[in-house]
Amino acid sequence: MPEQTAPPAGAPPGSAAPRTLGALTAAVRPKVIAASVLAATAGLASLVPFVAVYLLAVALSAAEPDPARVWTIVAVTVAAVVAQFLCHGAAVSLSHAADMDLQLRLRRSMAERLAGAPLGWIAERGAGRLKNTLQDDVEDMHYLVAHAVPDFVVAVSTPLAAAVYLAFVDWRLTLVCLVGIPCYLVGYRAMMRVAGSRMGAIGAAMGRLNSAVVEFVQGIAVVKAFGQTQRAHSRFAAAADDYLETFSSANRPILRIQSVSTGILSPAATLLVVALAGTVFVGQGWTAAIDVVPFLTLGLGLTAPVLAVGLAGNSLRAARQAAGRVGELLAVDPLPEPAAPRSPSGNRVELREVTFGYDADAPVLHEVSAVLPEGTVTALVGPSGAGKSTLAGLLPRFADPQRGQVLLGGVDVRDIAPGELYRHIGFVLQDVRFLRASVADNLRLARPGATDADLAEAVAAVGLRERIDTLPRGLDSLIGEDALLSGGEAQRLSIARALLADTPVLVLDEATAYADPESEATVQRALTRLIAGRTVLVIAHRLGSIVGADNIIVLDQGRVVEQGRHDALVAAGGLYASMWRTYRRHTEDADGRAAGRLGGTYEQIGVTP
Ligand code: ADP
Repeated sequence: MPEQTAPPAGAPPGSAAPRTLGALTAAVRPKVIAASVLAATAGLASLVPFVAVYLLAVALSAAEPDPARVWTIVAVTVAAVVAQFLCHGAAVSLSHAADMDLQLRLRRSMAERLAGAPLGWIAERGAGRLKNTLQDDVEDMHYLVAHAVPDFVVAVSTPLAAAVYLAFVDWRLTLVCLVGIPCYLVGYRAMMRVAGSRMGAIGAAMGRLNSAVVEFVQGIAVVKAFGQTQRAHSRFAAAADDYLETFSSANRPILRIQSVSTGILSPAATLLVVALAGTVFVGQGWTAAIDVVPFLTLGLGLTAPVLAVGLAGNSLRAARQAAGRVGELLAVDPLPEPAAPRSPSGNRVELREVTFGYDADAPVLHEVSAVLPEGTVTALVGPSGAGKSTLAGLLPRFADPQRGQVLLGGVDVRDIAPGELYRHIGFVLQDVRFLRASVADNLRLARPGATDADLAEAVAAVGLRERIDTLPRGLDSLIGEDALLSGGEAQRLSIARALLADTPVLVLDEATAYADPESEATVQRALTRLIAGRTVLVIAHRLGSIVGADNIIVLDQGRVVEQGRHDALVAAGGLYASMWRTYRRHTEDADGRAAGRLGGTYEQIGVTP
């Protein structure tokens, strides 16, 4: 990770890219306004042929038609049609240029924000929700900029201009033409009330579906390995059913109202009204027959655009909600960076009365204090939910504690520049992830300058050399394509990566499950190699592997309830002793290999007094 510098005091953290939604949309606003003006001009020009039909009818039905006037009308009409095409084309190009510009700015700013966001914040949201915002929400905003705003302007300005013109011809007949609009608006309001109340539910169901899809796809290998395909599939299917149900129940009433109100505004309904009213008006002598003509041309187009206003309104609403989510992502506070970074001296880690909660009012860790002397192995044990992962995550700053301090080499980790922190603290998580790239590229993530010899050494250290040699392209084989690794092999490759990163402090999340006893032994050997000489904090899921740890911290409900070496803790007869009894019973019952497992990985190393 490159060294990052602190922003000057008072300036927004990060680079020159705009960081708020307002600033991002403001940058493209001039283009959107120009596109809307051009679109409105095209809309007005589109009325000219309809007016021309009326004017020509008047001119040609005169006792002595004036050819000059007739040709003028034709020429103006042709000019208007050409202008309409030109303006429409220019409006579309401009709005799409604005749209591309906005998408690029949004995605760049969001990627930049994500890069600086605390890892804990990212993990909490999940890949599904983030993908939603980065992809779908930006698409929704594309509709807003490229279509909704110009469409909205046209949908309002064109019928308004037509209505003004018609009012000059006959204002009473104009009012009759417009009678469908208030009827529609009543229906529209009802529709929006229903839609507004259900939009949130649809969004939430979509979020659940996205998460289920991502989980399903990402976890497919694990799920298959454990023969749980049906269960995972049923979770995905349940999320899909839930979305369908939420969507249809939200849409049913909306569709009913929509079909009635849309019918009212249709040109056929307006034609009927104009024909009836025109007949009455002419019959009563209130208007000349020829003056009904513009109502039969322009009048028919008077009400239908209101539908476009409704549609544009819907997209505007969707875009506003998308903008809210994009804005939320853009507003995430980056992990604060030190204004005057300090360098740790040594690799001793200390937790000083650390209190932390994902929600500040509900601490998950309570005044946890512990010291990890340099070069020792400290194990974190405790029941599930005790706060082990949360505590371990504070070292690499997945999150910062609300109270207390995490110190590395005597310096608060918050005062260490992120680049330097990650050169000191590495982590190997249970959930092994690789990029879809070559084995070598994945290894070089840890040390970009590593030579082929370095890679070969790391691979050999975890006992993978022969396996890599059997791959079609050796280290250049693509993971997931011609390098298909077993669970144990993937774990060892991630350990090789950590070896290359060579950070003096390591946070390890020990695997809860190995594919088979053989891979367990090889992974344990690789781990032993990895942790030698480093300051290690290991989240231990099997007590058998930590009997030799220099210190064991027992966490319960976010508090340190005991700590010490294995023998002392067993003798103390507390929570650890009872966990140990359960563990022994379990492993002995399981396969009688308990004795073989006890005294495993972390026994031979560390500064044992
Ligand atoms: P352990 O690793 O010991 O099983 P964790 O550190 O994962 O425990 O969890 C401790 C507590 O914090 C649990 O109550 C868990 O529900 C909660 N927790 C863990 N991760 C999050 C998160 N991202 N957001 C909110 N609460 C969380």
